[in-house]
Amino acid sequence: MRVLIAGAAGFLGSHLTDAILKEGHQVLGVDNLCTGSVANLSHLKAEPRFEFCQQDICSPFEPKQVDYVFNFASPASPADYTRLGIETLMVGSAGTRNLLEIAKKYRAKFLHASTSECYGDPEQHPQTEEYWGHVNPIGPRSVYDESKRFSEALVMAYHRYEKVDTRLVRIFNTYGPRLQMNDGRVISNFLTQALRGDELTIYGDGSQTRSFCYVSDEIEGILRLSRSDEHAPVNIGNPTEWTILECAKAVLRVTGSKSIIAHRPLPQDDPSQRQPDIGKAIRLLKWEPKIDLDTGLKLSLDYFRACIEAAA
Ligand code: NAD
Ligand code: UDP
Repeated sequence: MRVLIAGAAGFLGSHLTDAILKEGHQVLGVDNLCTGSVANLSHLKAEPRFEFCQQDICSPFEPKQVDYVFNFASPASPADYTRLGIETLMVGSAGTRNLLEIAKKYRAKFLHASTSECYGDPEQHPQTEEYWGHVNPIGPRSVYDESKRFSEALVMAYHRYEKVDTRLVRIFNTYGPRLQMNDGRVISNFLTQALRGDELTIYGDGSQTRSFCYVSDEIEGILRLSRSDEHAPVNIGNPTEWTILECAKAVLRVTGSKSIIAHRPLPQDDPSQRQPDIGKAIRLLKWEPKIDLDTGLKLSLDYFRACIEAAA
């Protein structure tokens, strides 16, 4: 297959690129580098089955025949999508539409990276795919949440009206090597702070929860969904739920750091709890994550150490 991966220079897109190349396919990576980095793809310079095209997917473009389209292009960390609010709304609307038009033209299969943020600050816990969510449509997170919800509606519309063969993955907090060190996400912040001996910044009292999935588990779940015929959304994430305070303690344990914990104001509309119900993924894809948080943090240490050295 010739596979188009939008967002290929990002954290998840670059790992997905590696996984698809490993399966023997060709990859056309498309990215405008607004939050990603070519450094995430530098190991593929001599790979003849990989091409890179610097391109904003909000503008129509011609990739030539492709057999599968993966849409992983979007600012994803709260700091990035707050800085790039309008760009985030556009990539989830015009950008997703351009990619769906490409899939329609070439009769390519399509998989869209959606998010647990579609559930907003959830009142149902854990979150199943049937839950419609509790989202503030005009708050600071709305540029991301509504972009992602609009993309889901668009993907379902192209499936229903244009018969495009689509899939939707709802990704829960994923971490690992190639996260940008400065993207403000909790694991990148805590690991960088702990390794530097700086204060670990907990927003609010740290009682809010997240469920963290290591990147190799997440990519395996996404690949299995890509081969299935399920068109409705599927949660892919690690169901073990952690408070942010417990997460900070795990980072201190794994790094052996003596950093102290400092509290900062909780951002507006920060979801108070988040935990995927992965029953559907288990039934449909025979998929479950294997790597626990301590192991995943250990697997991420060398990468974060190298980033800190490079920045020094
Ligand atoms: P990332 O910021 O590392 O990667 C996103 C990539 O998309 C970047 O390389 C960026 O330059 C590119 N991009 C953004 N706008 C673009 C545009 N208009 N045209 C072309 N390229 C563009 O983020 P990530 O964590 O790898 O996230 C990838 C996808 O997965 C996103 O759609 C995100 O919403 C989704 N997701 C990620 C997580 C997570 O925990 N990492 C959780 C839920 C959903
Ligand atoms: N968070 C924190 N300290 C940080 C960064 C994040 O306490 O330095 C909290 C944030 O308020 C949220 C959780 O950690 O409750 C996860 O934040 P992240 O930005 O990683 O992603 P989110 O799940 O909110 O999209």
